[in-house]
Amino acid sequence: NAPLSEIDPEIAAVLDRELGRQRDYLEMIASENFVPRSVLQSQGSVLTNKYAEGYPGKRYYGGCEEVDVAEALAIERAKSLFGAAYANVQPHSGATANAAVLHALINKGQKIMGLSLAHGGHLTHGMKLNFSGKLYEVAAYGLDEQSHRIEMEQVREQALAERPDVIIAGWSAYPRHLDFAAFRAIADEIGAKLWTDMAHFAGLVAAGLHPSPVPYSDVVSTTVHKTLGGPRSGLIVSRDEELAKKLNSAVFPGQQGGPLMHVIAAKATALKIAAGPEFKERQERVLEGARLLAERLTAPDAIAAGINVVTGGTDVHLVLVDLRNSPIDGQQAQDLLHEVGITVNRNAVPFDPRPPMVTSGVRIGTPALATRGFGSVEFTEVADVIATALKGGADIDALRARVKRLTDEFPLYPGLAQ
Ligand code: PLP
Repeated sequence: NAPLSEIDPEIAAVLDRELGRQRDYLEMIASENFVPRSVLQSQGSVLTNKYAEGYPGKRYYGGCEEVDVAEALAIERAKSLFGAAYANVQPHSGATANAAVLHALINKGQKIMGLSLAHGGHLTHGMKLNFSGKLYEVAAYGLDEQSHRIEMEQVREQALAERPDVIIAGWSAYPRHLDFAAFRAIADEIGAKLWTDMAHFAGLVAAGLHPSPVPYSDVVSTTVHKTLGGPRSGLIVSRDEELAKKLNSAVFPGQQGGPLMHVIAAKATALKIAAGPEFKERQERVLEGARLLAERLTAPDAIAAGINVVTGGTDVHLVLVDLRNSPIDGQQAQDLLHEVGITVNRNAVPFDPRPPMVTSGVRIGTPALATRGFGSVEFTEVADVIATALKGGADIDALRARVKRLTDEFPLYPGLAQ
């Protein structure tokens, strides 16, 4: 029962230093967030000891009384939060949730059509090295060359030509709402299933600040750890109870063995929090922050320095900075912002002339900072720090000092020691 610092000082030091890093940097990776202490508590709990293959009330192991309560709560909360008839909260991650969705909807060799990876889609939507690209035939739709948006008439034409069995709506890097009604109409026209992967924008949907894909889609999958602000994991919901059996069996035993009950308990708590008024207020700050960032990065001085944002703005929690006209590439921008104390990731922009390991863009998101407490004043300041850095030739120490003022003002996990 000795503490971690005694048993394994090297790993204890990693935890310590990582807590310090999260406190000292401004986290702006669009897919990241900070979970509340209550979620950390479940994840570090004795529930990690429990095997519970099966589903509540139908387990292959004894002693599941308590974990059954946790999973039933998580299921009910997921259904209620997203207005779904069915939920499965067992997927270990977004990728395994997606593997289960395809497993349930189609057979090996059938065709899927999602947004191409180069234009903001996800690996699990048909990338050739991923299971989705290996098991299924893949057609992809892209963004319009002029608008850099998903134009539904183009998606329709592509769907009519390719006749996929599953159409995928959803993205990892795209700054606009999707037209779920139009996706549904296209799927119906060709007799395809519609699967929406709302991993990125699920928190906005939960807060009622983004159109919901649930009424339009056959199946909706999501991660729980991005805008939704919960533990690293996935879940699946559907309006269609008829798919329940297939989806459950695709998750277990199709994709997974024992569920991670400590994560499922943490998921239940995160879903409870996401149904509350404070969560909605937080998501409003997420959107406001992204909007302020887009505005600052399209101001005349930014445009003059070769900076822009993809589609000229954002409807969601992220901005895709377009550096095609800037001497600074995506990798250099990521490194430069790191020096200033801001963590982002380089990201290809649509029709990117630079190679994928370099790119001409960065993806910048606001969920983690909104969770940290940032509002419009702080996001205005962060946006100016970013614009000033990306314009080039700035005093890095001065920018680092501005970041430090913000991190000092909004302490992360006060009192927590790992
Ligand atoms: N789906 C989308 C749209 C994503 O952006 C991601 C993660 O980035 C995933 C699925 C996969 O989630 P995970 O990393 O939990 O497997």
